[in-house]
Amino acid sequence: MDIVDLRSDTVTLPTPAMREAMAHAELGDDVYREDPTVNRLEGIAADLVGKEAALFVPSGTMGNLAAILAHCQRGDEVILGHLSHTFLYEAGGISALGGVHSHQLYNQPDGSLLLEDIHNAIRPQDIHHPSSRLLCLENTHNRCGGAALSLEYTRQASELAHTHGLSVHLDGARIFNAAAALEVEARELVAPVDSVTFCLSKGLCAPVGSLLCGTGAFIESARRIRKQLGGGMRQAGVLAAAGIIGLKEIAPRLKEDHQRAQFLAQKLRLIPQLVLDEGTPHTNMVYVALRPDVPLDADRLAQELRQHGVMVGVVGARRFRLVTHYWIDDVALERAAQAFAEGMNNLLE
Ligand SMILES: *Cc1c(COP(=O)(O)O)cnc(C)c1O
Repeated sequence: MDIVDLRSDTVTLPTPAMREAMAHAELGDDVYREDPTVNRLEGIAADLVGKEAALFVPSGTMGNLAAILAHCQRGDEVILGHLSHTFLYEAGGISALGGVHSHQLYNQPDGSLLLEDIHNAIRPQDIHHPSSRLLCLENTHNRCGGAALSLEYTRQASELAHTHGLSVHLDGARIFNAAAALEVEARELVAPVDSVTFCLSKGLCAPVGSLLCGTGAFIESARRIRKQLGGGMRQAGVLAAAGIIGLKEIAPRLKEDHQRAQFLAQKLRLIPQLVLDEGTPHTNMVYVALRPDVPLDADRLAQELRQHGVMVGVVGARRFRLVTHYWIDDVALERAAQAFAEGMNNLLE
C-alpha cells in the first residue's frame, strides 16, 4: 500500500530531476570555497532574497544558530516568540552554545509579536540588564498554523528594532510559502530584515540543507561560526545541486500545495467529529482537532489512520497537523479524508 505521509513537508524525497543533477554535479572542496555548485547555489539564494551573500548550511537549525551567534555576543539578549521554532525546537542551542539569553514574548495567533510587547521588551542601558541585541521573527509561522507574516508587519517590527539598535533575523524556513501566500516576491518580504534563513529540505524537496543570507560581512562571520559548529562540508555540491532545482523548479509551484491544503480542509470539515482551527490553512498546513465530546485521543486515531496507510502529525492530545507537499496529490488527499471518516467510525462503533 502506498503511504500518504502528511506528517511534514520534511518527508519530501528528491525529485528525479534532483537525483539526476546530484549525480552530475560539478564538485570541489567547499571549505576551500572551491565547490562550483555550492557557490552557484549561494549566488542564486542571495539573489532570490535580495541579500549580498548566502551560506549553505546543513540544516535550518544550524542556520538560525549561526545567525544568532553572528549577531550576538555571550550575554546578549534575543527577543523571540514563545512558539518560535528557535525557542521550542532547536535544543536550546543559542544558550547552550552561544550564551545568548532569550526573552520570549507571546506569539499572537497569526504568528506575530505585538509591537507594543517588542517595544516593552527592549531594555534600557543598565548594567543590571543583558543587552537587547536581536529580534527574531518566523515566517511562515510553523506552530501558529503556518500563518504568513505580512510585509507591512515585517517592516513595522523591523523598523522598531532598528530604531533601538537591534538587528532582525528572520527564520524563513518556509519563506517561499509565505511569498506565495501573500503574492509578494520573497526579496520584498525579507527586505526589512538583516538576515534570513530558509530551508531547501522542506517543501522544496531537496534532501538536505538550508541557506543563511545577509550582508557580505555578516556571512563571513557566519562562515567561521559554521566551521566552529562542525558544519563546514566538503563536496557539498551533491546536495547543493538538488537545492538549485528546489529553488528553480519547486519554489514556483508552492501555491499548488496551498490549494491542496484548502481542498483537504474542505473534506475534513465534512467530518462531524473534527473541528478545524480558525483560518486554517494559511499555507500548506491544516491544523485540526477532535471535538471535545469525542471519546478518542489523537494518538489512538493516528494509529488507526496508519492502518489505512495515512500518516499525520500529532501535535497535542487531541490535535493533528497535516502538511501538503510535492508528493501529495488529490488522490492522496481523498484517501486521507476517507481514512479519517472510516477510522473514526471504526473506533467509535
Ligand atoms: C524546520 C524548521 C526549521 C529548521 O529545521 P531543520 O530541521 O533544522 O532544518 C527552523 N524553523 C522553522 C520554522 C522550521 O519549520
